[in-house]
Amino acid sequence: AKEQGRGHWQFYAASMNTGTLERLGLESELRHALERGQFHLEYQPQLDLASGTVVGMEALLRWTHPQLGRIPPASFIGLAEEMGLITPIGDWVLRTACAQARAWQLAGHGPLRLAVNLSARQFKQKNLLHAVAQALADTGLAAAHLELELTESMVMHDVEQATVIMAKLKGLGVQLSIDDFGTGYSSLAYLRHFPIDVLKIDKTFVSDITHSMDDAAIVRAIISLAHSLRLKVIAEGVETAQQLDFLRQHGCDQMQGYLFSRPLAAAAFETLLLEGNML
Ligand code: C2E
Ligand code: CA
Ligand code: CA
Ligand code: CA
Repeated sequence: AKEQGRGHWQFYAASMNTGTLERLGLESELRHALERGQFHLEYQPQLDLASGTVVGMEALLRWTHPQLGRIPPASFIGLAEEMGLITPIGDWVLRTACAQARAWQLAGHGPLRLAVNLSARQFKQKNLLHAVAQALADTGLAAAHLELELTESMVMHDVEQATVIMAKLKGLGVQLSIDDFGTGYSSLAYLRHFPIDVLKIDKTFVSDITHSMDDAAIVRAIISLAHSLRLKVIAEGVETAQQLDFLRQHGCDQMQGYLFSRPLAAAAFETLLLEGNML
């Protein structure tokens, strides 16, 4: 019995080591990351395809832990949602990004549009409208320069509730986009009624447009659908000149991707604005 008990304990400990302990560790570290100043934002430029100039940027959250190093958002955003930490973290992202966008504007970099990702929890938070309005008021960024990125699953989960929230956000004067378009469960019938401004074509489609006839057809269809609904289209994850050519040829409005630039820390983004903001 003792043997068996020990065996069980060992088994338990082993599974704790590989999964649960790691997660418990990450949880307690995540709980303190904000107050310990471990977050920063990177900005990835978005270019207008007709003019070849930088017209905006997407703010992307970065967590650098002193021992664990850089932890990608895909590994902690979901955890932050589950732990109820996404609201304070999301507020911090919103404020920091708005302040940065306003500072670039005051430095003479023209009216850049700032895109900020919202998580599902944040989107449903009662306080969202107030948090957005407050971030704009405190930083002096005009609402028209802020774009909030939503995902299909966020808005399709409860269409009526989502429509109300979107209408309220539009009432503040901000722009709304649907991120990762084409990957989720979406209904074209609803899309028509949502007060959105931009569709972002997911990078999984973009990556294959020059190899897969299907993906090429999907991207063409998304572009023409968006235009017929008077929406702008941004292609994300553009990595090659061939992809860029295809997107230009088919009338895509804007692009974002490693071909032009990876997400950059604020100082590097400003250097890019000063030196090489042409495609
Ligand atoms: P996303 O919103 O779809 O962001 C685009 C992701 O694609 C970013 O990954 C970006 O670095 C990456 N990317 C950009 N260009 C290229 C390219 O040419 N090729 C490839 N392969 N990738 C490219 P990242 O920064 O790791 O972010 C991953 C996801 O984490 C984001 O996906 C978003 O869902 C989430 N996220 C990031 N920051 C925030 C945030 O502040 N709040 C919330 N709620 N979610 C965030
Ligand atoms: Ca995004
Ligand atoms: Ca995306
Ligand atoms: Ca594909």
